[in-house]
Amino acid sequence: MPDVFTHFLVGVSIALLVRKDGSRAERMLIILGAVLIDIERPFSWLLASTEFYWIGLTPAFHSILGAVFLSYSAAACFDLEHTTFRERVKLILIGCTVHLLLDMTMYPWEERGLYLLYPLKITFSFNLLWPDFWWLPVFGIASLLVALGIRYLMTLTQSSKAERDS
Ligand SMILES: [Zn+2]
Repeated sequence: MPDVFTHFLVGVSIALLVRKDGSRAERMLIILGAVLIDIERPFSWLLASTEFYWIGLTPAFHSILGAVFLSYSAAACFDLEHTTFRERVKLILIGCTVHLLLDMTMYPWEERGLYLLYPLKITFSFNLLWPDFWWLPVFGIASLLVALGIRYLMTLTQSSKAERDS
């Protein structure tokens, strides 16, 4: 799976495009969703040092069930102005979906892929890349540049349309 930094950069890219005219807080929720699923890592490290180590934590979080659970839990932690609970869940879930899609490009966990339908152990993976490629953050930066470029073009077309209308 890509590193958290790559997930963050791709999350920022998606937030810039999906919530172009949204508030900063709304974009932050998408970015939060993009990194939230890997919250199991510190939990797993912590659990690994105890007797209660649960090997199922990583696949459980990297699933549709995990994404929905985390989105609802995280949305309940925030009370942002002008956003409903449902909207917050939706925004975080967008980020989580981007995270899962990005992880599915990999051969994580010994070529098994993600258990998207956890607890069913059916693997899903695009089988494109090995997770430790050094250029993954470069891919994240490239996606950010592309998003900024698209955003700039969208702003240009909007302002020229506004000029024509006035
Ligand atoms: Zn992940």
